[in-house]
Formats: sequence, structure tokens, C-alpha cells
Amino acid sequence: MPVYHYRCKNCGYDFTEHQSFDDEPITVCPKCGEPTVHKVYSAVPITFKGSGFYRTDKGSK
Ligand SMILES: [Zn+2]
Repeated sequence: MPVYHYRCKNCGYDFTEHQSFDDEPITVCPKCGEPTVHKVYSAVPITFKGSGFYRTDKGSK
């Protein structure tokens, strides 16, 4: 399961979450409660975001 790295723009809270690809991204800061959390793409080498890209792990090579 991938680990996503998030950071809050409001209070600077920095955290990681284990989430599946199907989970909704976190937007609300668990510390200050403001919807100012954004993903930080440092720990995950392959990440596609938005429509047009998706990843399949269904075994076929
Ligand atoms: Zn915050």
C-alpha cells in the first residue's frame, strides 16, 4: 500500500498516510481542521494525478 506525504499550508503540519489508490486524498488537516492540506510528492516515485492517468496493478505485464 502506498504511503502519501501531506503537508498543511495553514499550520505546516507534516504527515504521511497509508492509503489505497481508491481512497480519497486527504484535504482537511487533522491538526488545525482547515482544508489546506496538499500532497507532497517526495516519497512516492510514481504518482499520476488527475484524469487521463490511472494505474493498474492487475498482474499483466
Ligand atoms: Zn493544519
